[in-house]
This record gives sequence, C-alpha cells and structure tokens, in this order.
Amino acid sequence: MSLNENWFTEANEETGTGFSLKIKAKLYEEQTPFQKLEIYDTETFGKLMILDGCTMVSTRDNFLYHEMMSHPALFTVKAPKRVLIIGGGDCGTLKEVLKHPEVELAQQIDIDEAVTLASEKYFPELCESNNDPRAELKFIDGIKWVAESAPGSYDVIIVDSTDPVGPALGLFSVEFYQNCFNALSEGGVLVQQSESPLTHQTLLKEMHTAFKEVGFSDTKTLPFPQPIYPTGWWSCTMAVKAGQAEAFRETDSTNKDFKTRYYNAGIHKGALASPPMFADEIGI
Ligand code: SAM
Repeated sequence: MSLNENWFTEANEETGTGFSLKIKAKLYEEQTPFQKLEIYDTETFGKLMILDGCTMVSTRDNFLYHEMMSHPALFTVKAPKRVLIIGGGDCGTLKEVLKHPEVELAQQIDIDEAVTLASEKYFPELCESNNDPRAELKFIDGIKWVAESAPGSYDVIIVDSTDPVGPALGLFSVEFYQNCFNALSEGGVLVQQSESPLTHQTLLKEMHTAFKEVGFSDTKTLPFPQPIYPTGWWSCTMAVKAGQAEAFRETDSTNKDFKTRYYNAGIHKGALASPPMFADEIGI
C-alpha cells in the first residue's frame, strides 16, 4: 500500500501500524528464490532495502541496529575469536563484528546471495569489510549450517534475520536454539534480533523460555530505537551459556579503539536496565 506514487509504506497488519518514506525512485526489484527484494532511493533516509514488503535497512538509520546486534554480545564474551552471523546479508553486522581486533573468523551465512549482491551495489559502505581476510561469506540455509556445526565452534552467534516467517521461521525454534547452544564455546553468547518490545511481547516471552529450556544460564533483552521498523522501538535478545548476561568487558568497551555512532559503554549499560514493563508484561 502507498500514500501515493511518491511514498513507500510498510503497512504492518500484525501491529496495525504503518511507516512511510518519501521516495525519489525505485532503483531495483527482483523476485529471488526466497523473497521479493526491492531497493528505493528516498528523499531523506538514503537508500532503502525492502524484503517481502518489510523494511530491512536504510542508509540513515542502519547503524543503530548493526551496532546493537554486534557490540553488546562481543563485549560480553571474554575473547570473541570465532563469530557466526546467521542472515545479515546486507553485511552491516559483519562490518561491526570485524571492528573487534580479537576476532579471527567471522562467518556470514545468509540463505539469499541476491541480498548481498544488492547491498554491494546500493550500500557499499556496509560491505567495505567483505574482503577482510577474516570474513567468510556463504549462501546457504543458516538452520542447516548450525545443525551441522561441530560442538563449541563459535564464541558468538548473531542471528540477524528477517521476521519469523518464510525461510526465517525455523530461526525462532527450540531446535535451532539447541543447535546454537551446542555450537557455542563454554563462555559463548547467542544474540538474536527480537522484534518490538511494544508489540511482540509473546514472541519475546517464548524466546526467553526457549533459551532457558535449552540450557542457557541467563538471558537479557536490550531495546534500542529503530525508526524504520514497526513501532520504531526494536530489540535484540542475548543468551549466555554460563554466567550473567549483564556482565560485560566494560573497561574494554570504554577504551575501544574503533568508532561507533550509537554504541558505547554507557549505551550498553543503559540497554541492560530493563523497563518495568518487561517484568510486568513480558515476565522477563
Ligand atoms: N535488519 C533486518 C531486520 O531485522 O529486519 C534483517 C536484515 S538481513 C537483510 C536479514 C537476512 O536474513 C536476509 O538477507 C535473509 O535472506 C536472511 N535469512 C532469512 N532466513 C534465513 C535462513 N534460514 N538462513 C540464513 N539467512 C536467512
């Protein structure tokens, strides 16, 4: 649905909300084997990537999501050497992960190569670390990849996926979480994009229950602003294999020698402070 031909609108039936951006032009459209991919040039948010009608990435606000999907988890692990990204085909999370000097391997497993090809063309700034010798990009189903990973293979697993429908549905299942738990090293951390705390409370509750069920010792949902996603308020949820999800390398985060636009140690601490509604309405 669109207001008129100069606007893109994501009308979200589930939440009864809509988000619109004024567009200059439609740059690309492709029906891939997995999803419908569109790229727009907008008046004020730069380029905009859409998958199956849902907003994914904009030039203007992607840093909020990519920084929060990566840095809190990487600063929670003592030595994040081996990192797995499931989904993440726009490569923005990969770029953030590779800012950590301890990382020796960062594998990005997205089911759809078309997303990365479009990102290389329309979001080159997100793909500038794709040729880093520590980066490995593969285009296969992340569910299968994790199921076949050897125990203890990764220190951090980041699930940067589309919403829990279509090919991403199985990325929100107990079986997938069990396989992630097994594929993580002793002090490993799983982090997954977990939709809006305002409108996806059932999903959040189910994720926390499932994480605990498969053996994670502690879980935490970190909220952050994300203007292009439904409600504008998004979240990621971390599950730690051992210890507390709130314990992070605060000194290393404070002294990090790379640039970020949103994340810092203070934002990390603030995101760990759960609003009362999390306990009252989500039971977390
Ligand atoms: N930031 C976005 C959001 O929360 O809406 C996610 C962006 S990223 C482009 C999502 C990626 O997940 C897509 O490229 C899609 O191809 C990928 N994906 C969906 N299901 C997958 C699966 N089973 N295995 C690997 N990648 C998957």
